[in-house]
Amino acid sequence: MVTLDRLRALSARVGADPLLVQAAGGNTSLKQDGVMWIKASGTWLRDAAARDIFVPIDNAAVMSALGAGDPACETCTAFVRTDLNATGLRPSIETTVHAVMPQRVVVHVHCVNTIAWAIRADAEQRLAERLRQFAWAFVPYARPGLPLAAAIGSRLRTGVDVLVLGNHGLVVAADTVDAAAALLERVVSALRRPARVTSPPDLDALTSLCVGTSYAPAASLETHALATDMLALTLARKHVFYPDHVVFLGVGVATAIASHAPLVAVPGIGVLIRDDAKPAVEPMGRCLADVMRRVQPQDPLVALTDADIDRLVNWDAEKYRQGLES
Ligand SMILES: [Zn+2]
Repeated sequence: MVTLDRLRALSARVGADPLLVQAAGGNTSLKQDGVMWIKASGTWLRDAAARDIFVPIDNAAVMSALGAGDPACETCTAFVRTDLNATGLRPSIETTVHAVMPQRVVVHVHCVNTIAWAIRADAEQRLAERLRQFAWAFVPYARPGLPLAAAIGSRLRTGVDVLVLGNHGLVVAADTVDAAAALLERVVSALRRPARVTSPPDLDALTSLCVGTSYAPAASLETHALATDMLALTLARKHVFYPDHVVFLGVGVATAIASHAPLVAVPGIGVLIRDDAKPAVEPMGRCLADVMRRVQPQDPLVALTDADIDRLVNWDAEKYRQGLES
């Protein structure tokens, strides 16, 4: 399984880059001898080299179920090759994204630079200007699972190896791990947007606010931009732009400790994290800040609707994934 080892190494590298992957978001896969090895639900790509996080799936069974619109494709647990599944883990809730791509290696990331384009109403047109040299397709937002698989299916053409998922992220695919890694690097560099420089957090003020509470200042400097960048703060308080944002941070970022929210952005001061917050909370807060620092006040942004949010947070597979985050 030399190739799977190469995928593990790439996954760990990609998973350690907060501009590409945050917490349990993002996933990679390899199709080999009729089996698709896909990252397990709730595991972090960052851990791919240190522990076994891949689940074997019967790829042909997923494809025929997808063709029939079988609801089993929502979780794909029915297609696990239990005879090969040493860890007993469940497949990623985004398994179908990987199954519909014909290439052997698929890398799906919640790339900050991509998302900063993919949350625009004019995303497809603006991306077309930057992705001219790629065989790519834009897929309008759909909930992961069957709806996203169907949306990809309607946009996929022969030869396409790059997908930008509206209000979600990026998919690249190739027949070798090295080619997928190279393609990822080329696409990300074509989509790079400058991040606005923001004031540093007021750590003294944050520390005073934390006295006698169960909060502490966020560990990463970048996370604090959610409170010190006024555009980031304004947008994050009002809108939800992509799935993992609402799943881990809820609707509307809290701005006062009294809210008891896991993440609190104290306006102009910095970000606090509750001591019992799930490990995904700060990485997701940082991601939101990183995306928001790459948009401009005049950008025609489009947020998820209330209906989109309902469909996502009430999806059983998503509830399972969140349950794994202890
Ligand atoms: Zn995703």
